[in-house]
Amino acid sequence: MFRSIRAALVGASAVAALFAADIAQAQQQFVAIGTGGLTGVYYPAGGAICRMVNRDRAQHGIRCSVESTGGSVFNLNAIRSGELEFGIAQSDWQYHAFNGTSQFADAGPFEDLRAVFALHPEPFTLIVRGDSDIQSFEDLRGKRVNVGNPGSGQRATMEVVMEAFGISMSDFALAAELPGPEMPAGLCDNRFEAMIYTVGHPAAAIQEVTTTCDARLVSVVGEPIDRLVADRAYYSVATVPGGMYRGNDEDITTFGVGATFVTSAQVPEEAVYVLAKAVMENIDSFRGLHPALAVLEPATMVSDGLSAPLHPGAERAFRELGLID
Ligand code: GLU
Repeated sequence: MFRSIRAALVGASAVAALFAADIAQAQQQFVAIGTGGLTGVYYPAGGAICRMVNRDRAQHGIRCSVESTGGSVFNLNAIRSGELEFGIAQSDWQYHAFNGTSQFADAGPFEDLRAVFALHPEPFTLIVRGDSDIQSFEDLRGKRVNVGNPGSGQRATMEVVMEAFGISMSDFALAAELPGPEMPAGLCDNRFEAMIYTVGHPAAAIQEVTTTCDARLVSVVGEPIDRLVADRAYYSVATVPGGMYRGNDEDITTFGVGATFVTSAQVPEEAVYVLAKAVMENIDSFRGLHPALAVLEPATMVSDGLSAPLHPGAERAFRELGLID
């Protein structure tokens, strides 16, 4: 599963320093990160990780690339099958994949799942058209709703929230399944009136709908949400601050998860070490690569929302940097 190529060394370099770089290049290793849709935050966050890694490629020989995917659940399955070395996944689906619960009950526990670090917070976000009268999650009954594409974290979490509110797919006038990048046009063309997105903020897809068709963020609160947050460690109350999106000046309250960066125990220690170290060592420039990453703190990134054990490569990097004992 771990792609590696060994190119022939071309001649012997007389300069020792150059020779070391030649060796690293001769053993170039490719790693791919599964992310999400282009207009979410996973895709640019994965790009930011690869950027940190690839700039020192001459030293370590690892070439990192990003793949746009259907999201969390897809990424966890692709890491399990060995199709991808790394992926970004919501903390709730990391938990379920590792334990073989909920959506992962049929597949059973993914015992080799390993955490690398936590990324940005992801509030469960309900967005409605500017001309919609929807004021709460319960108001979605009888409406045309984009519930998200299978394989995405938002779709999987949407099903949990619907169950908590006692709402089923047949309670909607339409349950559309468009993926992240296609949601803005669907909402603004009035193919549906509401969409949900578990995503970091600001996200390009939400910037698009708030500027193009006056979309509004709606709080997701109530007793069913209080119960979810009380019962499950991977959920917490979350706020999307007012002023983040055009026409949305008030804070909205909802619950949220965390985005996490994960891999498999089958991925060699050195590769995980290089990725974990590249990000943590360059945290200031990493934070500057997307506004949703600006809040990241190394001290919490090493533990927040990580239910799978840390990969030994990440442990080594964090220990060296004094982030864990
Ligand atoms: N949370 C979403 C998912 O798990 C992806 C959000 C994003 O692409 O930033 O599928």
